[in-house]
Amino acid sequence: MEPAERIGRFTESVIREQTRIAHLFGAINLAQGFPDFDPPRDLVQALEQVLQKGGSHQYANTWGAPEFRVALAEKLTRTSGRSVDPDRELTVTCGSTEAMIASLMAILNPGDRVAVFSPFYENYNADGILSGAQAVHIRLHAPTWNFDRSELREAFAEKGCKAIVICNPSNPCGKVFTREELMEIGQVLEEFDAVAVTDEVYEHIIYDKNRHTHMAALPGMSERVITCSSLSKTYSITGWRLGYVWAAPKWTNAIRKVHDFLTVGAAHPLQMAAVVGLRSEPSYYERLAADYQRKRDAFCLHLDRAGLAYLLPQGAYFLLADISHTQMGDVEFCQFLAQEIGVAAVPGSSFFEYPVTHLVRFHFSRKDETLREAGQRLERLGERI
Ligand code: GLN
Repeated sequence: MEPAERIGRFTESVIREQTRIAHLFGAINLAQGFPDFDPPRDLVQALEQVLQKGGSHQYANTWGAPEFRVALAEKLTRTSGRSVDPDRELTVTCGSTEAMIASLMAILNPGDRVAVFSPFYENYNADGILSGAQAVHIRLHAPTWNFDRSELREAFAEKGCKAIVICNPSNPCGKVFTREELMEIGQVLEEFDAVAVTDEVYEHIIYDKNRHTHMAALPGMSERVITCSSLSKTYSITGWRLGYVWAAPKWTNAIRKVHDFLTVGAAHPLQMAAVVGLRSEPSYYERLAADYQRKRDAFCLHLDRAGLAYLLPQGAYFLLADISHTQMGDVEFCQFLAQEIGVAAVPGSSFFEYPVTHLVRFHFSRKDETLREAGQRLERLGERI
């Protein structure tokens, strides 16, 4: 007896493997993207109170605690401009990771095709395989990360895709899809009666003049867009595993069935405490984006001094750096970087379906002093290669 055939079709997470390598060599982890700083104090205090008060130590409603869904619906209504129904349109999941797989399993049949922008976050490949679907990649072209309209159309017209996965802002390249781009994608979805599954976990980490658009709130898109997101990055609580799906009742009913049998539900006390975060003032989100922009700019100065070229992200907290001049492949370079320089990154090849070995991904969700130390180590790179 062997493990199921589908298991052989994807590898373990390359990102989390780099975390293990970072631990092995005591390197600063700029590979797996999560903060090394604590969440806002009021969230931690709320959790203490919730735990002491009791009443939420057993399962929550499988769709999510009502208090959480009401607070989330209010927040989404405010940020998207579309009225969100907490009872019929929201499902609380164990992170956006569960939100994505539950959504894809709820909408795709074995053998269906799903379009995925490339570079892509590694989960989407595994999600596609676990749902029995086949991925069709649409390239985002550096340096602007624009896509080719004819390639988009071809994915639906000729390759028969039923859905498209859109990570906005994008992990790993930091692209923020404009309203116009999302409207264009929406027109194609309408033409071919297809849907989008969006991953918007970095929705509040947006730089410069860029703006995040909730595709689901664009005209005509309420039944065509299934929005997945989480509280992990917005409130620096990746370990709380709180995500959600926002979708029209038709999709929500199907997604809730998958979710119920996959996990039953996300941790009840953590949902209750997170209500405080969901009720944050707009200034909280402005400060979050400003803090990350400062981190991005400080880290980029170190990369400049280290002689590493990169593309400035418009959103999210990752960037892809070019290592062509090192004469090393990305996997070899990441091993060298962790072992000899003391900084861990992710080989870029794990984000592309075509051969790309000259890029590595760094994240900058670290305390200023951690980033400074990592940056100083990277500046020594020139002497070593
Ligand atoms: N999304 C983050 C990254 O790309 C964390 C991944 C994870 O381990 N869930 O690094």
